[in-house]
Amino acid sequence: MKNPFCLILSVLLLSASMTSCNRDESSGQNKLLLVSIDGFRADYFDLYETPNLDYIAENGVLADYMIPVFPTKTFPNHYSIATGLFVENSGIISNNMYDPETDRYYSLGNRESVQDASWYSGEPIWVTAEKQGIPSAPLFWPGSEAPIGGSYATYWSPYDDDLPYSARVDSVINWLQIEDETAPGFMTLYFSKVDSYGHWYGPESDSVATAVQEVDQQIGYLLNELGRINYREQLNMIFVSDHGMIEISEDKIIRLDELFNLEDAEIIDWAPVTKIRPDDGKTDEIYRNLKESERNYTVYRKSDIPQEYGYKNHLRVPEIILVVSPGYTVTSSERLAGSEITGGNHGYLHTAPEMRSLFLAMGPDIKRGIKSPPFQNIHLYELMAKLMNIEPSPNDGKLDSVKHILN
Ligand code: AMP
Ligand code: ZN
Ligand code: ZN
Repeated sequence: MKNPFCLILSVLLLSASMTSCNRDESSGQNKLLLVSIDGFRADYFDLYETPNLDYIAENGVLADYMIPVFPTKTFPNHYSIATGLFVENSGIISNNMYDPETDRYYSLGNRESVQDASWYSGEPIWVTAEKQGIPSAPLFWPGSEAPIGGSYATYWSPYDDDLPYSARVDSVINWLQIEDETAPGFMTLYFSKVDSYGHWYGPESDSVATAVQEVDQQIGYLLNELGRINYREQLNMIFVSDHGMIEISEDKIIRLDELFNLEDAEIIDWAPVTKIRPDDGKTDEIYRNLKESERNYTVYRKSDIPQEYGYKNHLRVPEIILVVSPGYTVTSSERLAGSEITGGNHGYLHTAPEMRSLFLAMGPDIKRGIKSPPFQNIHLYELMAKLMNIEPSPNDGKLDSVKHILN
């Protein structure tokens, strides 16, 4: 229970609700909602019609953009936001991974792996909150399906891409109306459509405009519902995306089979950061071949990956990786046959302008109507801990980088 005094008072006074009790509380006592709009590139905010996000920017804080972690994929970034850790410390180094110690594979489609806590290091914010007496509801947040640190959040659900967005918002509204000690003080929402449409139709397309509009309307619904239950002024809200999106095309292709013998290695990930696990004794030869033809990608041996990517120091990073130039697709002649390279993708270098992500926040503990310079998403864990007035676990972020957002 976040504030037992509040509950006791509510019970004693009978007529007083948790909601009205919250209203009088000081900073650190308001609930926190974290919303992710997957693949919402920072400049979509200017490119597309977003009346509800505009309202939040006008009444809260809009960052010029947020800098994702490397690699700019969904699970690494969501889990780094939740833990404040670079991926070499969080363990979620990509959406697809191989662990040489256990000889097991992880992927988003492999439910068993996603729900297996042994893949996840660090302490996500919902675990930190639960440990300090704040029930939480990390709905669909990557990692929330696994019992990290030995237990689940008070409220969580297996990922269901088909659950209507309005039903997700309704869950939050219902949670906010719980008045007993199971009332969550931390909640999340997740919307995937902007990312999906970005992949299928490209970032600058009518379809993405429609997807952005649909998500924005759901945020409008959320704001209206918060008004209806009298919570609009009492909830701290953070709206983020995990990464951006860039157009891909047939003329920007890297065929791996033209660069080295694919029989000599396992490709763990074809995606923009290509993860190559050479067979025994093949590392030098494959590296040499890739280095000789280095064009539209940078090839790294594991030991040479720049330290500042926060990536190299993990067992799950294989011996060779390719960091592919934004907009390029890594494939093979075989994979290419019959497939079309159109639409958009992400996963490229985290400093590429097209990979920039969204940050917006609004609430009683957040400044009104200011713009923030860019910052890295690893600082959000500290920010969220501060907003909930809980002690953060050790992490790679710094409150100093984001505290200008707070009142
Ligand atoms: P990607 O674009 O490959 O980095 O991943 C985005 C996709 O991840 C979305 O289209 C979602 O369907 C999927 N996704 C998001 N959250 C989850 C989850 N908790 N479990 C499985 N898949 C998810
Ligand atoms: Zn994503
Ligand atoms: Zn995506």
